[in-house]
Amino acid sequence: MGASKGIKQAVILAGGLGTRLMPLTKNTPKPMVLVNNRPFLEYLISLLRDNGIEEIVLLLGYLAGKVQKHFRDGSGFGVKIKYSVSSVSTETGKRIKKAAKLLDDTFLLMYCDNYWQLNLREMMEFYISKNKKYMMTVYSNSLGITKNNVLVSKDGIVLKYDKERKDKGLNGVDIGFFILKKDILKLMPSSNLSFEKMITPKLIKKRELAAYTTNIRYYSVSTVEKLKLTEEFLRPKKIALIDRDGIINKRPLKARYIRSWKQFKFLPGAIKSLGLLKRNGFRLILISNQAGIGRGLMTEKDLKKIHENMQKALKRGNADLDAIYCCPHSWEDNCECRKPKPGMILRAANDLSFDVTKAVFIGDDERDIQAGKNAGCKTILISKGDAANSSPDMICKSLEEAAELLVNHKKYKQSAI
Ligand SMILES: [Mg+2]
Repeated sequence: MGASKGIKQAVILAGGLGTRLMPLTKNTPKPMVLVNNRPFLEYLISLLRDNGIEEIVLLLGYLAGKVQKHFRDGSGFGVKIKYSVSSVSTETGKRIKKAAKLLDDTFLLMYCDNYWQLNLREMMEFYISKNKKYMMTVYSNSLGITKNNVLVSKDGIVLKYDKERKDKGLNGVDIGFFILKKDILKLMPSSNLSFEKMITPKLIKKRELAAYTTNIRYYSVSTVEKLKLTEEFLRPKKIALIDRDGIINKRPLKARYIRSWKQFKFLPGAIKSLGLLKRNGFRLILISNQAGIGRGLMTEKDLKKIHENMQKALKRGNADLDAIYCCPHSWEDNCECRKPKPGMILRAANDLSFDVTKAVFIGDDERDIQAGKNAGCKTILISKGDAANSSPDMICKSLEEAAELLVNHKKYKQSAI
């Protein structure tokens, strides 16, 4: 992801009691709760370091010593860590204010219980383009995983914040990951105040709070149930998202469709390549546009039949797909799933709990690469000719070459794609 211009510091609110996580937080502060045998905060720190953050200020309270003892000055984690410790009863706003001397002019403010696949470079570009001093990251809740608590205008300004989540006309969820200017401290009285209850409404009233809206879902450790989902999500996985026509089977002519199993012809080397990926621990997920259904040229049943036969043949080569996602809509339907939109990929990521930023999309069409990019994946274009305009991360001549690369290439292997 590389370094981000202008922002080097993250401030994490990590002082709460974590009552909703009891009994896990009886003797352990929330940031130290184990997720796959690692304190949750380690994941956040890796995420920040990979985004070019150099310094992290931890705002601690409950069992602060346990956090400090583990992370020390941060050198063991590739960052510099500073601490500001206040009493357990101190509210979020006051915790920030107390850390005034440690704060950079512009910093990233986070809650310690949300994990989201931050791309700070993209966020900063948006922040600069909005020309507002403050910005909140808002999950679009396109999968409907929770209740909304903010209203964002079409031009990206937060208009409402409802901590109680009662208002019906809301369209997103505050997930933290704020970009703030230090002068926000001037808006804070010295009383014991909560950031979200006191400061967020002030910024909204001044129309000074931009919203960076993301379709990528976030994960949380705020309750035991959510922690379980997060644990599964953060377990390392290798994911290959694969287009069908032109990758697995011979591509039909433009605006034609494979309507029956008879018309389906595997490309040479396809089964072998999928088998190689599978043997090396990749989960294989098909992501395919099948507008022939929406255009009335074939039925869902026809497609199902083709895929049943395809899976049988793949299974014989130990190369069957782990999941299949198809968009049946015509381009006129304006759905959320048809590539280049990222709907199918985001749905798959949610269903199979994987990190889209560590998954790779393999396709033969510019729309595949755009869909992959729109979802935040790495992308490989299979092309024998010129590279398309979509600038994929890699270009390979065949699925075989792509599979070899993913399995053997050190860089790809180690990035836990
Ligand atoms: Mg294709």
